[in-house]
Amino acid sequence: MTREYLKKATLTARSGASDVNDIVQGILADIEEGGDAKALEYASKFDKYEGSVLLSDEEIQAAIAAVPEKLKRDIEFSHGNVKRFAEAQKASMTDIAVEVVPGMTAGQKMIPVEAAGCYVPGGRYSHIASAIMTVTTAKVAGCKHIVACSPPRPEVGIAPAIVYAAHICGADKIMAMGGVQGVAAMTFGLFGLPKANILVGPGNQFVAEAKRILFGRVGIDMIAGPTDSLILADESADPMVVATDLVGQAEHGYNSPVWLVTDNRSLAEEVMRLVPVLIEDLPEVNRENATAAWRDYAEVILCADRDEMAATSDDYAPEHLTVMANDLDWWLDRLTCYGSLFLGEETTVAFGDKASGTNHVLPTSRAATYTGGLSVHKYMKIVTWQRSTADAMKPIAEATARISRLEGMEAHARTADIRLAKFFPSENFD
Ligand code: NAD
Repeated sequence: MTREYLKKATLTARSGASDVNDIVQGILADIEEGGDAKALEYASKFDKYEGSVLLSDEEIQAAIAAVPEKLKRDIEFSHGNVKRFAEAQKASMTDIAVEVVPGMTAGQKMIPVEAAGCYVPGGRYSHIASAIMTVTTAKVAGCKHIVACSPPRPEVGIAPAIVYAAHICGADKIMAMGGVQGVAAMTFGLFGLPKANILVGPGNQFVAEAKRILFGRVGIDMIAGPTDSLILADESADPMVVATDLVGQAEHGYNSPVWLVTDNRSLAEEVMRLVPVLIEDLPEVNRENATAAWRDYAEVILCADRDEMAATSDDYAPEHLTVMANDLDWWLDRLTCYGSLFLGEETTVAFGDKASGTNHVLPTSRAATYTGGLSVHKYMKIVTWQRSTADAMKPIAEATARISRLEGMEAHARTADIRLAKFFPSENFD
């Protein structure tokens, strides 16, 4: 590799406070012991919220009335696209049945989990799209109970647009509770909710840590770290579009890495000149986030050619990957590690984040080396079944008895013996 770092990160997504685990363990234990009352105490402490936790029909209708009509249409548009994509995913999952040996059929069935808990982040920004992404996929998967849970703002509650999105996408309950207490309430079945079988959705380090600790008692989609994005650009890319897209993702948070990988030095230099200019023009909070993310976490990497660019990208395994280069088919064919891929200037990460149909809950911090993002599949249990004729069972039982005895598992062997004796009483199987 001849990678040259024109800009190198001084921090990585894994740098930072290590006391999060202790804090979250403590809150979870407290809430498990103290139930609803303890969860309310933490809601009051962290979110200064004293209002109702489960939204009533009247509160939902009031929130809906507060959402501007144009925004409602946009949410419906996004929901339609996410739903169509999720339905196609579901259609691609089929039950199977195969005669493994004549007379012995084995099958596989897809069964949705009963209860899904969808965490919709809402601390820094109001993540309307996260409600659409998580609730819609749970609904299409066929989950019977879907809870959407999001942090309330003091005296205001959940942002009305999040309530609208969760409602039209199919949430059965909408819960105004954020962070660890929200995750705990869904997992432990507080406030009369069914205990969640799976927790999905992005969130900050406290939410992610709570999901990590609870995994096992409850399923999770993935453990999400800070969002990250990589752009692959060659000489055909427009530096202004590349820079705009990098800034667009750097605003997520102070620790959200953005990476540019290119084989064109002058493009890289122009992008590095433009990014600070574009950041300077953002509103204050967004500017602070993007400034820190660009300063501490961003990288600009110069490669020898497109093969090295692709290898570098696979190495970083970004959550979001954009290609602005010639021969998009080559890149689609070649790249293997990413959460979601955006090919060409006509698309961009924000489209996938908000409205184009693919899911935005995606693997971060190199998890794309082993998993994709949230999809209908994550809510499905892939279970197996079998049935057999007596004749087909005979060699299976004989092999099972021998293998079990070799393993020292006598009781296992006898479950085979009893069947051989019952169905073939005149034969000797010693
Ligand atoms: P959040 O809803 O995840 O967290 C807010 C909650 O954090 C609060 O309700 C509070 O209870 C808790 N909290 C805050 N400080 C605490 C403390 N000191 N101790 C214990 N709990 C505390 O909202 P956020 O903070 O804005 O984070 C949202 C995250 O979601 C961001 O990291 C963003 O990048 C990520 N995100 C990711 C995707 C994706 O698909 N990867 C999409 C949207 C958002």
